[in-house]
Amino acid sequence: MLKILMATSEVCPFAKTGGLADVLGSLPGVLNSQHAEVRVILPKYGSINEKLKKKIIHKCYIFVNVGWRRQYCGIEELEHNGVKHYFIDNEYYFNRENIYGYEDDCERFAFFAIAVMEALAKIDFIPDILHCHDWQTGMIPVIKEAHYSKYKDTKTIFTIHNLKYQGFCGIDQMKDWFSLKDYFFTHDKLEIHGATSFMKGGLTYSNLLTTVSETYAREIRNPFFGEGLEGLLNARKNDLKGILNGVDYKEYNPLTDNLIYEKYGRSKLGGKLINKTSLQKELGLEVDENRLIIGLISRLVDQKGLDLINHVFDEIMSEGVQFVVLGTGEHKYEQMFRKAVSKYPGRVSANIKFNNTLAHKIYAASDLFLMPSLFEPCGLGQIISLRYGTIPIVREIGGLKDTVIPYNEFTGEGNGFGFVNYNAHEMLYTIQRAVRFSKKKTVLNKLRKSAMSCDFSWNASAKKYIELYKELI
Ligand code: ADP
Repeated sequence: MLKILMATSEVCPFAKTGGLADVLGSLPGVLNSQHAEVRVILPKYGSINEKLKKKIIHKCYIFVNVGWRRQYCGIEELEHNGVKHYFIDNEYYFNRENIYGYEDDCERFAFFAIAVMEALAKIDFIPDILHCHDWQTGMIPVIKEAHYSKYKDTKTIFTIHNLKYQGFCGIDQMKDWFSLKDYFFTHDKLEIHGATSFMKGGLTYSNLLTTVSETYAREIRNPFFGEGLEGLLNARKNDLKGILNGVDYKEYNPLTDNLIYEKYGRSKLGGKLINKTSLQKELGLEVDENRLIIGLISRLVDQKGLDLINHVFDEIMSEGVQFVVLGTGEHKYEQMFRKAVSKYPGRVSANIKFNNTLAHKIYAASDLFLMPSLFEPCGLGQIISLRYGTIPIVREIGGLKDTVIPYNEFTGEGNGFGFVNYNAHEMLYTIQRAVRFSKKKTVLNKLRKSAMSCDFSWNASAKKYIELYKELI
């Protein structure tokens, strides 16, 4: 049996800011049903839901050296949905309101990386593969190489969920926290423009690299998407694989979803209308089943193409649609949607918060789902939309390209709408086209059925991970 330990900063339902949490909350369970034993290790955040927190069991504690600092490190555990989760407990670093966004984020995850390596001796689980996710865990493969030769048989995989966030910090700090010699800080190893990054550590020192779609795996080898790491990624191109994320088809299933107003499925789409009018009522929109709703559920950051929306928002609204937003992020985008509510009362709803239940309701109630990203490693929003028969309008890049097939009115093929260039009017034209076709009931129903027939469950992708693990050991 393959023994895998996944190290991550987010896991549903314990801690979530984006798609990383969805992946870590669902992939391990699926792998466990395919002859692997996967366990997960993450920080014990103060923000974990109290009910879950109470169930976590204290196992033992150790002290961990972060440079000259000696830090308490509790090791706790909880089996959840058949997966054993280990929690690294340190109140100073992790008992805070949010998961990220602090000045000392790099030090917090430096502590976490060292804690993961030190915890191995205590959890009685020496994995065949340490599978690390995103920059927060990028230094684990580096210190494994530098300080833990006793685990030389354990291999490492690093998965890029988003290359944009790299965990930049100074070389002196990095040397101090991880007790690393000068040797590690040359350009072919950790140095990057006179500084260093956790991400570069993961990319340089892991045995294999993956990212979350085939298209993004190719894109990041070009300067536009490569965030300064395209040279390294090209040098390691034979070790870099794209494996598309799946979604948890149990959590996101309109036939069984208890969070939505009315359950529905491919062959009884009537329930979708009830979701629409109920959401309109709840959010104070005009209740009108004939108005198309465009949904947007997203972190409100530049990556998500929000400046395109800003540029042509009035034109979008002149199509007679309603626009429902759920998200938090940069102040300018939060304000942009708040202002839109006062300009279009009863037609725009801006929900500037993080709310899982409302997310499910919006996926179920919307007709169209907008995702015009500047770049998108995989994107889960459009995949969840497809599952709910809500037609995605996307920019054809990264994982969006790998999951959404633009509608072809001549052949009837497609499950959504797409545009290529990062251009507000190209997006607007595509939205207009989507609105025009969605007003035709037969076309809309056909699109919904083909969207709901897609299979983006974990089945196929989990098999690819198993193959990769086997290849490595
Ligand atoms: P990213 O990981 O870049 O944020 P993804 O599309 O891969 O983008 O994943 C986003 C995930 O987070 C989806 O499950 C989406 O529904 C969820 N999400 C994003 N913003 C919110 C929010 N404000 N409230 C609830 N869920 C959200």
